[in-house]
Amino acid sequence: MKNAFEAAGQYFEEAASVMDLSPNMKKLLLTPERELKVQVAMKLDNGNIATFVGYRIQHNSARGPMKGGLRYHHEVDSDEVLALASLMTWKTAVVDLPYGGAKGGINVRPKDLSTDELERLTRKFVDELHDVIGPDKDIPAPDMGTNAQVMAWFMNQYEKFHGFNPACVTGKPAELYGAEGREEATGRGVGILTQALLRKYQRTAEGATIAIQGFGNVGTFTADYLSRAGAKIIAISDVSGAILNRDGIDVAAALAYAKTNGSLSGFSGGERLSNEGLLALDVDVLIPAALGGVLTEENANDVRAKFIIEAANGPTTPEADMIFRKREIVVLPDILANAGGVTVSYFEWVQNQQYFRWDLERVREELEKTMSRSFDKVWSLAVEKRIHLRTAAYLLGIGRVGRATVLGGI
Ligand code: GLU
Repeated sequence: MKNAFEAAGQYFEEAASVMDLSPNMKKLLLTPERELKVQVAMKLDNGNIATFVGYRIQHNSARGPMKGGLRYHHEVDSDEVLALASLMTWKTAVVDLPYGGAKGGINVRPKDLSTDELERLTRKFVDELHDVIGPDKDIPAPDMGTNAQVMAWFMNQYEKFHGFNPACVTGKPAELYGAEGREEATGRGVGILTQALLRKYQRTAEGATIAIQGFGNVGTFTADYLSRAGAKIIAISDVSGAILNRDGIDVAAALAYAKTNGSLSGFSGGERLSNEGLLALDVDVLIPAALGGVLTEENANDVRAKFIIEAANGPTTPEADMIFRKREIVVLPDILANAGGVTVSYFEWVQNQQYFRWDLERVREELEKTMSRSFDKVWSLAVEKRIHLRTAAYLLGIGRVGRATVLGGI
């Protein structure tokens, strides 16, 4: 199995060869502009000192300030952050936001820390990082293990150095310069594009059977959106395992249960199933919405879904992708499928800079426009060039970044 960094490189290579990109341009587009690795030392509640490693990798700024999330997870390392930073560069280009790409994170298990410790950790990270961050430089946002509260601490600490600056970070609470609809945005975007893809195959979400792996921010809002659109969510999962109900899971009940109990463990709305079992279910649509690298050459032949929507970043290894192509399983790639989050981050940044607020209706309307327009563009490129959707998305993203680079000059 390839790691995230090699996988992202391989997808890039494939598109680069279709485009006939020169070796020099390839090297330029693959090399990150800046890589920061810092020690984040802090006092724990019990008085002991703990040390964590934090990263921020700024991959490319040809199209604008760099943009991308902050991940707090125990598997964060520089290879993963670089791969995710490059995905942000192509993602912002695919949906045509005036941004480059970056990613950051801390190698930590956030569940092991108290709320106070998490706050101190975040503030300490900002102390190490603030010089390279800013509304016109690099704008972080939530990712796995971080949320609106972490972004609020981030902004507050950043402002201690630089003064009033809400646009230095996105995904903030709606009560503190955040955009309405930012929290739901990634899942909503996944839902909108699931419908768009099904329509291309003369299908609708109504009655479609769906399995969702991951019940965090993205998985929950995806499940909610698609069940309201009439789809049957027959399986969901989180770290505690998976739940199967062939008549359709009561998504509202599952959401309420997970909120009260912290996980789906003990939820009685279906039978228990292993996480691997969920990936192999006979469904119309499979939506990986958790970690990367979950669909591999070991399990790709067991997948029975007709469509895979990559709500997570990098859930499919290149080997698994090849198997899906041979088996004619349609894959909607991450850099398009989950771009709803960064799209509404952009709306938040715009509102912060203009001291103006949009209502939820306007955010949803603009999100739908951006996602649908980008989907249509990738779809027609795939049809025109007879390539898969992933290659088409990379082609569009790399092409836009490449042209900006050439126009701006070195
Ligand atoms: N972490 C999200 C992503 O992977 C959102 C990034 C952002 O809003 O800047 O796309």
